[in-house]
Amino acid sequence: MTMSNTWQAQLADAYIDPLALLKDLGINPNDLPEKIASRTGFAFKVTRSFAARMKPGDPLDPLLRQVLPSLEEDKIVPGFHRDPVGDLEAIEEPGLLHKYQGRVLLITTGACAIHCRYCFRRNFPYQEQQLAKRRESISLERIKEDPSISEVIFSGGDPLVLSNDRLRTLIAAIAAIPSVERLRLHTRLPIVLPSRIDPELRDILQSTRLKVIVVIHANHSNEINDEVHQALEALSLQGITLLNQTVLLKGINDDADLLSDLSHRLFEGGVLPYYLHLLDRAQGTHHFEVEEAKAKAIYEGLLSRLPGYLVPKMVREEKGAPSKIPLLG
Ligand SMILES: *Cc1c(COP(=O)(O)O)cnc(C)c1O
Ligand code: SF4
Repeated sequence: MTMSNTWQAQLADAYIDPLALLKDLGINPNDLPEKIASRTGFAFKVTRSFAARMKPGDPLDPLLRQVLPSLEEDKIVPGFHRDPVGDLEAIEEPGLLHKYQGRVLLITTGACAIHCRYCFRRNFPYQEQQLAKRRESISLERIKEDPSISEVIFSGGDPLVLSNDRLRTLIAAIAAIPSVERLRLHTRLPIVLPSRIDPELRDILQSTRLKVIVVIHANHSNEINDEVHQALEALSLQGITLLNQTVLLKGINDDADLLSDLSHRLFEGGVLPYYLHLLDRAQGTHHFEVEEAKAKAIYEGLLSRLPGYLVPKMVREEKGAPSKIPLLG
């Protein structure tokens, strides 16, 4: 394999300049509905693999709109906060969030392969609050001390930007805690960088004694091309439970037919829809919000179109609540 084919090389080769992406897509920035902004705080980033699924010449492409920075991000809108879901209050140790009974979430890294403009953690202080190697044993000790914790969730950032060696070590340390039964990975890599699902990673996930659940994040059926489909199939053939979460996004997927297509496409790859999240009100994301009445109408549309097992649960997250809050039965 040449270096340029490794997932690490592809990750390093991601677009970091929106103008370069627009040029490759044959889109004149003046044809965009809004001016694009140059960003330093939450930089522009998108893998070439994901960008290749965008429609050339279409300024309204639903994949493009997830990653293009807009001047709207600078507006201060009441109700939108830097810590929209109370993550900071749930931190027990750097990198360890404990909000819900029985499961803890590890901020394994601050890095992602793509920067989704609507991200609820776009303002998260990763520098201080990610799992730092030198303090990792303290976090693991906290998990060990609380036998009610049966599930550990790797989140971030995106845990699959970590190397296979790092993941192997971390998973072994978790598996050494007898009360932990399940390992969950929250990752967008199978979608935005499907080459990441390499045989070594699949082997790591298969050889642990923990039950593994991989929760991917796709918002539109155009995201699932053949390569993604194959990566998902490879995971599901290994007995890994595959679930998907979607964020309901204005102008991107706020339509029952689109979301219904997404559910079908996911299921072809062995993935069941899990959550349909109403937008977490993070500062800089207000322009993606879908009104609640419209969200409910879309949801009713999904219920009437799909078999029950292909309907995700529509939820919102509220600071301090004991779970994500379902919006309709
Ligand atoms: C969403 C979330 C979880 C997982 O919740 P589930 O309803 O089990 O998917 C766990 N910990 C934190 C901090 C979360 O935000
Ligand atoms: S991949 Fe997930 S964590 Fe990373 S920017 Fe997108 S939504 Fe945020």
